[in-house]
Amino acid sequence: MKCYNHSGREAVAVCRACGKAVCQECGLETGNGIACRQSCTDILAEKTEYYSRQAAHLKNLKRLNFLGSLFSIGMGLLFIYFSFMGYGVVYDLILLIGSGFTVYGMVAQLVNMITFFKSKKNKPG
Ligand SMILES: [Zn+2]
Ligand SMILES: [Zn+2]
Repeated sequence: MKCYNHSGREAVAVCRACGKAVCQECGLETGNGIACRQSCTDILAEKTEYYSRQAAHLKNLKRLNFLGSLFSIGMGLLFIYFSFMGYGVVYDLILLIGSGFTVYGMVAQLVNMITFFKSKKNKPG
């Protein structure tokens, strides 16, 4: 593979933004990979920022999910607690709702954990 700018020189890297082959002299080390020119350096910086923002967003979502299911378990246990304070259809209903909340929260936590371990396993590198 030859350099995009110098047909006589052997390329040492490929621009991470546009995919052009570059020689030692043309390749710009950006900290996010090799770029072939300034505009590609900018594109790379933008892309890197975009991905890190996406990662932060995903992290927030996961945290919300985690707190949501914990809240659900807490609500469920509270409902179950109240259901033991009396007898009758209403209390049975409260017990049923409480059990539903608790089971839902626990299943959500389980799914969270499985997703967490799976994503750890599949991480490249
Ligand atoms: Zn480029
Ligand atoms: Zn070159």
